[in-house]
Amino acid sequence: MKVFKKIGWLFFIGLLLVVVYLAFNFVTFGSKQITAQSITPIRIDKSAVENFQKAIKIQTVSPENSIDFDSTQFDLFNTFLKESYPMVDSLLEKKVFNSYSFLYQWKGIDPSLKPIILMGHLDVVPVIEANKTDWRREPFGGEIKQDTIWGRGTLDDKVGVISIMEAVELLLKEGFKPDRSIYLSFGHDEELGGEAGAKTIARYLKEQGVRAEFVLDEGGSIVRGLIPGIKKDVALIGIAEKGSVSLDLTVKLEGGHSSMPEKETAIDVLATAIAKVKNNPFPAKITKPMKGFIEQLGPEMTFINKLAFSNQALFEPLIISTYEASTSGNALIRTTTSPTIFNSGVKENIIPLSASATINFRIIPETTVAQVKDRVKNLIADDRIKITLGSFNSEPSKVSNIDSFGYQKIHETIAEIYPDILVSPYLVIAATDSRHFEEVSENIYRFATITINPENIKSIHGLNERIPVQDFENAIRFYVQLIKNGTVKS
Ligand SMILES: [Zn+2]
Repeated sequence: MKVFKKIGWLFFIGLLLVVVYLAFNFVTFGSKQITAQSITPIRIDKSAVENFQKAIKIQTVSPENSIDFDSTQFDLFNTFLKESYPMVDSLLEKKVFNSYSFLYQWKGIDPSLKPIILMGHLDVVPVIEANKTDWRREPFGGEIKQDTIWGRGTLDDKVGVISIMEAVELLLKEGFKPDRSIYLSFGHDEELGGEAGAKTIARYLKEQGVRAEFVLDEGGSIVRGLIPGIKKDVALIGIAEKGSVSLDLTVKLEGGHSSMPEKETAIDVLATAIAKVKNNPFPAKITKPMKGFIEQLGPEMTFINKLAFSNQALFEPLIISTYEASTSGNALIRTTTSPTIFNSGVKENIIPLSASATINFRIIPETTVAQVKDRVKNLIADDRIKITLGSFNSEPSKVSNIDSFGYQKIHETIAEIYPDILVSPYLVIAATDSRHFEEVSENIYRFATITINPENIKSIHGLNERIPVQDFENAIRFYVQLIKNGTVKS
């Protein structure tokens, strides 16, 4: 009896310790949000919206096939920028790269200060002809209906380019003089990988010995109603982006007639290999950007979520299984596996000699392309299958710090422009042009001043892309304020 009593007590004390430990972590898990006084919104001239409409109308499409590239549209866009932003055009130094990408330099007063780089891209993805009738407004019409501007590029990414240009023009008109230099970098082929645009610009800056204090590109956004346990809007600043690799798998075996099949055919071998890779997902991992997300947003969450996030070490399996439950959550915690192409066979009664397939992987930070390839090779463990790297591969980006000058200034500016918003670091699952700038700055951030909600989340690269006029105007206010906060010596 006595022994049981003792065990009972030990159990009770153990439980009490766990509760105290959880409670301590919960209570000390305080808010890390920067509190900033929100500023009175500056007046935005109606010409800004008109300029934005003009920009949407110019069809700067990056086509699937390079033969469809329409250079006249890009020339038009160049003319549009010159005419609409005369102060930027005359007062900033402009360099052109591969005919259609631009780098503007606004020289600061103090050359000892590192410059900042604001990025955007001029190109948009095509509007698929067959889907045109599903658009409720003309995709390149730039129409305004119910205080919303419609068209391809309103979210990705002409809003970035135009609000940056408007902000700089407005500041020049005011006679503002930055202490720190500002570069505006606009690539014209982001949707195709950014080789001719951003990559070339970054190489030039590196050759010039430019080291930037920070770089800000698209990638993150303001999300509304998309993060479980949080009611407020959240501004997500990408501090890293995933890499991408495609592996081509090929197998060549004896063919023959389908009436006398060998035990294994090329199709069987390849199908088995793909099933193996697919059934063995990459391990889940909470990488640095997601750790930052948990630490910055956890304190703002409702009880249960906050309890789990404040005790990350204990609840990691629970946190991971919660993320795994949705496709978007799953993409944040692991290298994902997507077979995208499978080719074999020509006739219904002929066993094909060969089969080939492609699997695309999106790689989380701290994993490499080589590691992905090795793991796949080991999983398949079949010498009959040749595994080669596809043509478009990129390593995951480095992870930028959140205690840097740049992150702090971006955070502060968001808090000033958008009252009652939360700010958090994040992992961007798509690719942006900023990945080409790793040798120009170690502080690369990805945040576009657009609001993403359950209604418009699929409109980027999809149908009915649109933005409320107010969001566009706030984007200009954001850049005006960011330039002031980020380039004036305090
Ligand atoms: Zn984009």
